[in-house]
Amino acid sequence: MKELLERHRLGDRWIAAAGLVVASAIAALLGIAFLVAHNVDEDSARRDIALAKNGLDSLVTRMRHDLVSLTQWDEAVKRVVLKNDTAWVHRYFGQRLRETSGHDLSFILYASGAPVYASIEGVSVYNDLYNWVRPQVDPIVAEVNNAYAKRTALPPRSNQNGDVESLPEPASRAAFRHIDHKSALVVAATIVPNHDATLLGDHSPPVAVSVSFLEGDLLRGLAKDLSIDDLVLEEGAEPAKGKVGIEVPMPNEGPRSWLVWKPRRPGTEMLNRLTPALAGIAAFIGLVGFFVLRHVRRSNRQLAESERRATELAFRDALTGLGNRAQLIETLGQSLSDLRAGENLALLFIDIDGFKDINDTLGHHVGDELLTVAAWRLAPTKNCTAAVRLGGDEFAVLIKLKEDDEIVGICRHVLDALRHPTPAGDHVLTVSASIGVAVAPEHASDPETLLRRADIALYRARTEGRGSLRMFDHGYEEALHKRGRTERELAQALARDELRVLYQPLWSADGERMVGVEALVRWEHPERGTVAPMEFIPTAEHSGLIVRLDEWVLRRACERAASWPGLALAVNLSPSNFHHSDMVDRVTRILNETGFDPCRLEIEITENMLLHATSEVLGQLAEMRRIGIRIVLDDFGTGYSSLGYLRRFPVDKIKIDQSFVRNLGVTEEAAAIVECVARLGRALGLTVTAEGVETAEQHRFVRAAGCHQLQGFLFSPPVASERISEFARSSDAGRPQAAVSHG
Ligand code: C2E
Ligand code: CA
Ligand code: CA
Repeated sequence: MKELLERHRLGDRWIAAAGLVVASAIAALLGIAFLVAHNVDEDSARRDIALAKNGLDSLVTRMRHDLVSLTQWDEAVKRVVLKNDTAWVHRYFGQRLRETSGHDLSFILYASGAPVYASIEGVSVYNDLYNWVRPQVDPIVAEVNNAYAKRTALPPRSNQNGDVESLPEPASRAAFRHIDHKSALVVAATIVPNHDATLLGDHSPPVAVSVSFLEGDLLRGLAKDLSIDDLVLEEGAEPAKGKVGIEVPMPNEGPRSWLVWKPRRPGTEMLNRLTPALAGIAAFIGLVGFFVLRHVRRSNRQLAESERRATELAFRDALTGLGNRAQLIETLGQSLSDLRAGENLALLFIDIDGFKDINDTLGHHVGDELLTVAAWRLAPTKNCTAAVRLGGDEFAVLIKLKEDDEIVGICRHVLDALRHPTPAGDHVLTVSASIGVAVAPEHASDPETLLRRADIALYRARTEGRGSLRMFDHGYEEALHKRGRTERELAQALARDELRVLYQPLWSADGERMVGVEALVRWEHPERGTVAPMEFIPTAEHSGLIVRLDEWVLRRACERAASWPGLALAVNLSPSNFHHSDMVDRVTRILNETGFDPCRLEIEITENMLLHATSEVLGQLAEMRRIGIRIVLDDFGTGYSSLGYLRRFPVDKIKIDQSFVRNLGVTEEAAAIVECVARLGRALGLTVTAEGVETAEQHRFVRAAGCHQLQGFLFSPPVASERISEFARSSDAGRPQAAVSHG
């Protein structure tokens, strides 16, 4: 049972572990998917930032290039420096810059820094407008001038063709500035000739300036180039939360500007797109896992449950609900191995007295109720480790005894409890029980021996009569062994013809005439010598050998007695013979085979047998009487002793038991009984025999009482057939002198 529970718990643990593995696997897969998506998102953001930086750099380069392409031009030098042709400047500079590149503001300044030309969004305006941007732009213009000055101070360089470059290298600068609270790209470049180096003369070159605000078309163009839809310019310490961006490089003093956008999340998008599918798959795996595990768990449960039920059934007695023999053996083994020093384990075998009779007479349902109540009463026995029904009306109780526990006291309690009146069916029954006890470790330490010895003790208790209690004793076991040996030897003796029949004469009341003989068996044991029937008849009855034995005696006696005409032959038949329905046939066959006259045969049966006789047995007796055999009631007075029933039963003769004859002159009761039985027998027309007549005194009394026949040592002990033949031959087979010598 324990093992079963353990296995069950283990199974559950495995299932839980498997469930955890499936759940973890799903969680791990989802985790990996999220991680991958996150990484992809971050990569994408990084890439976009790098692209944006490049884009911004390209923008700066383009704007600078656009300006420089206009300022390195002979015509421009001519028109600005020599002619001050504002109309041309407007068309080819202000308007063009606006149209081609979208510059917002454009200026031309003399080297002195004075504005020559100004335009806003391609529209020519007052030169003073330059003052608006001067603080931010002048430093850049100064840088350009410085750079130009530095270059012209250097010696002329050679170009790719090896020609000396006489043209001064133009200087340009591009930088971001805050202008009117907006971020703007400021580009400045010197206006220099591209062919005719002389055009400038000694003049320092004028400077062209363009300002492009990072907004409107410019920003949209940049966004388009970068494929970023939501590109915006923001100010702040860093891009707003949830956005990424690149910083627009501004001088330190102003606020920081950022080109920001919401980062694309291709990983997350992919994940989002995949999520329903992933969730579906996860749910599917989870669901399948769940159902599989649930199924496994259920099967496991069912298996465990059916195993438990099977084990329970295998260990339970269906009628009483107590455990059964298997349970006892299991518990006994466990309890014995758990037994500590100083502890004792008592095994009680309990048998309800006379249960078979109750079952037979009142019916099985009454018997069943009785057993169930007995079970209830046994279950609460003190210190009871197990109370089981062994089968039939046999129970066993296992009791753990502490040092001061007194087993006999406990057993008496059990006996008392069982003796309480029990309502069963329409009856209230009061039954007793017999108990046999074996105690471990005193009587045995192993289950089998303890069981066997408790059984032996019970067997002994049963033979002692109702309500007995017996502790195991080694003597009982020896007796049993002896009986077993006797049984085996007796079977051999029958086969080897070691049995012998003696005949004890029956005399007429006056002791003058031998009227018959009783066949009495003897066992000529090779070692023990002659064994008296009382020593082996009970064993033969117990083993069932008695049927063969009685049959053998009957045959042998009939053979012998055939040569004793006129003498009746009495043969004892044990009750077991009557359990066989063919008994009369067998007796008849023997009579036929031996040619013995049935009218000379007397069958001796006991009072008790007659008392318990079924209608079938009575039928057998009647049948025997019909063919002439007489029925003799042996040992009359020792049994139930109801004289009334003599009338109802098919009996021809009664033999007053030896004990009464022996007690004649000893107890008054004996004389009264002998007289009474003799009178009654005569009144019923039965032959009355007195057994065990040993003295002349007894002879006188039984004769006076009216007994018809006498049997006893006074006349003759049981003798060999030859002696009977001798008696029979002598005409006056008379006075027992001859016979007494055999006593
Ligand atoms: P039982 O049928 O009552 O036989 C009479 C017994 O009393 C015999 O003992 C006999 O020897 C003994 N007896 C006879 N006269 C006297 C006497 O004056 N004083 C004393 N003290 N005893 C006397 P036995 O032969 O030992 O037989 C004992 C019992 O064994 C018989 O009692 C009978 O019940 C049984 N028995 C003997 N032979 C057979 C047999 O072949 N079959 C069966 N089934 N039982 C047998
Ligand atoms: Ca007898
Ligand atoms: Ca007798």
